[in-house]
Amino acid sequence: MFDEKTVLAGWMIDGTGAPIQKNVLLGIRNGVFEKIQSFPVTSMKPPGILDLSEYTLLPGLADAHVHMFMSGNEDRSRRKQQLNEGFHQVKKTISRHLEQLLVHGVLAVRDGGDKDGYTQQYKKSCMKEPYTDISLYVAGKAWHKPGRYGSFVGCALKKGSLAQGILRGSDDIDHVKIIQSGLNSLTVFGKESPPQFHLKALREAVNVSTRLGLKTMVHANGEVPVQIALEAGCSSIEHGFFMGEENLAQMAHKNVFWVPTAYTMKAYAEHAEGSNVDRRVALRNLDHQLEQISEAKRLGVPIALGTDSGSIGVHHGSAVISELRLLLDAGFSMEGAIKCASFNNARLLGLDGKGFMKKGMRADFIAVKGSPSGLPESLRDISMVHVGERFL
Ligand SMILES: [Zn+2]
Repeated sequence: MFDEKTVLAGWMIDGTGAPIQKNVLLGIRNGVFEKIQSFPVTSMKPPGILDLSEYTLLPGLADAHVHMFMSGNEDRSRRKQQLNEGFHQVKKTISRHLEQLLVHGVLAVRDGGDKDGYTQQYKKSCMKEPYTDISLYVAGKAWHKPGRYGSFVGCALKKGSLAQGILRGSDDIDHVKIIQSGLNSLTVFGKESPPQFHLKALREAVNVSTRLGLKTMVHANGEVPVQIALEAGCSSIEHGFFMGEENLAQMAHKNVFWVPTAYTMKAYAEHAEGSNVDRRVALRNLDHQLEQISEAKRLGVPIALGTDSGSIGVHHGSAVISELRLLLDAGFSMEGAIKCASFNNARLLGLDGKGFMKKGMRADFIAVKGSPSGLPESLRDISMVHVGERFL
């Protein structure tokens, strides 16, 4: 039996950055796009068609930076409590977050680590092959230097080199996460923290990861930490606040992905009360990051959309909408912003045959009511998610 469907879409954003198309006919056979072609409005609609002429179709989205074990909860005592929960509890939290991601059209996520490696444990013990609905990519525990930032998302390197640590702990992970700087300062604008690892250590770490077939996801803020990470050959720079123009130019030259996580600063500013966060600094950080994003766009740096969901006020799923909005604020077109969350993320995550809508690709798409002018906010209320042969 062949599974066949014909869908008429009012609008389509294919995920490659190409202009929005109007009135598109999509033929799906055995879970693959068999044809995608324009459909003149004056034509007779073929029988049995699924009429989505009032809808916009987009490829499935991905979030390239999340922490599945934490919620975006704004309550500080609740956050502390959540940090110390055991696997039994965290398991439920992760399942809930996966559902939240799915209802926002996010079909793939890349996790940035947790101190107990629970997300990795969850993937191994609670997700069954094949992961058709949502794909979860895990780092296990992120690596950081003893006494430096990173203890809640990973573990400190206790003995031996970083490369040796990675070799010992590489079972059942999809990528390596390394913390190469501190948190971006929320009290002093533009304050840079020293790098955690020297070039030699980081280069060895990247080389060993590459030999294991793993990409390196490097948390780095400030000029020097980012510069070392780029020289070491990392696959992506996470956050990259205040990395500066020279590093951006290097990233464009080397085709290194940047995951700017700009919305975190807006969320910090909104939830600064009763904390040691200076609201004005958080907002200035945000503005500065948006300027860097504009510059990155001009230079041709591949930007991958990631939210750092689990950070304060950054909620799994809905944060993708907020991050898309900021990419638009930084000068991206809607097609360009969607590309960062689909095509670019698929490349970063190594998802062959996913991330954009083309003939021959797996028929993954989401549908939102109305024209593209309602995006990205209309992603709050997704009408349909189609994965392969079926609607979820
Ligand atoms: Zn993170």
